[in-house]
Amino acid sequence: MSKVLIIGAGGVGNVVARKCASVPEVFSDIMLASRTLSKCEQIARAIGGDRVKTAKVDADNVNELVELINRFKPEIVINVALPYQDLTIMEACLQTKTHYLDTANYEPRDVAKFEYSWQWAYHDRFKEAGLLAILGCGFDPGVTGIFTAYAAKHYFDEIHYLDIVDCNAGDHGKAFATNFNPEINIREITQNGRYWENGKWIETKPLEIHKPIKYPEIGERESYLLYHEELESLVKNFPSLKRARFWMTFGSQYINFLNVLQEVGMTSIKPVNFKGVDIVPLEFLKAVLPEPSSLGEEYKGQTSIGCQIKGIKDGKERTYYVWNNCDHAKSYKEVKAQAISYTTGVPAMIGAMLALTGKWSGKGVFNVEEFNPDPFMEKLPEYGLPWNEEIDKPLPVEK
Ligand code: NDP
Repeated sequence: MSKVLIIGAGGVGNVVARKCASVPEVFSDIMLASRTLSKCEQIARAIGGDRVKTAKVDADNVNELVELINRFKPEIVINVALPYQDLTIMEACLQTKTHYLDTANYEPRDVAKFEYSWQWAYHDRFKEAGLLAILGCGFDPGVTGIFTAYAAKHYFDEIHYLDIVDCNAGDHGKAFATNFNPEINIREITQNGRYWENGKWIETKPLEIHKPIKYPEIGERESYLLYHEELESLVKNFPSLKRARFWMTFGSQYINFLNVLQEVGMTSIKPVNFKGVDIVPLEFLKAVLPEPSSLGEEYKGQTSIGCQIKGIKDGKERTYYVWNNCDHAKSYKEVKAQAISYTTGVPAMIGAMLALTGKWSGKGVFNVEEFNPDPFMEKLPEYGLPWNEEIDKPLPVEK
């Protein structure tokens, strides 16, 4: 029986709150806090039964966070606000002796760059305080790290090649929208690509490398090589990897819109002065695009995210593919959210549950693949994310 504080009441926050509320034997008391109180209240009302308390908090402000945490006294904070708030929330957790979990690594607002160094630097302070911080516990990062750890534990002596493949074959009926926070999403996609090969990072131009990859129950989709944050921790935690890449699908219409927005300067994070006010074009663009949490109702189709791995077992080459397919309409029916929010929120709830029940423990800052993957893999289907595996079959990414 534990108290949990969820910070961020967007698409993902809604799913985390609903899923935690459905497990009262672990999450006895829940508070949902965010910048806009009305969004928390709306979610709490929809859940009903006075299960979820609400509060307004500016998560950029450590003192406000400390005050809120001291008032509510949660055992763990689930951070599903934006990556900009990771460090302030970690700082507040340290000051109040509270465990921490998030789903995306820290990014400074003024540089489109994400890496774990800022959060890994907190390891000793969390360790000395006897606290646990779990980084990147959504789907990717999150389940993709757990899939990799599970493969390494049960199927391989050494893993050599890892391809994380992320397909959204859904259609939300809008001309252009992003599936999670538009600002964070567009920053991620418009950066240079990067992958790991033979001990070093190889950089590519944004979306330069692409090819069709076949996804289960979906078929072939054009997939683009991106840099994604879990690659950084996975190559560190699995040093036998000779190559690690991340692929994501985009439709041609999405790419066309993105190119135009980029060409006209709307994806820039450099402020421009407009009628005496400094505005960041990308922040303005976010304000006019649909909110990810509003995309659910008309969304049809599935996501398919998995890991395709090649390595060695008992001296022989082995291949392994593990994946989850998630249906947008089914997610919406269950929690009023599309599959991207669903596949992020469910793992965040499971990670918090494993920490609170002692199945995942440790002192310091850890990425998910450093824990025992088995209890997590067991809980995934129980809470709505069934997974499938194929052993020693040709890998679709290699075609
Ligand atoms: P949304 O934009 O829908 O929600 C973000 C929420 O955070 C909003 O409620 C927002 O408040 C709140 N927020 C922003 N700034 C502050 C602040 N300073 N203080 C308090 N609250 C704040 O995003 P999503 O729900 O789609 O994504 C949430 C997180 O999940 C992001 O970090 C994203 O990167 C991550 N993510 C991870 C994935 C994974 O697989 N690992 C996949 C998808 C998302 P307001 O409503 O006022 O704007």
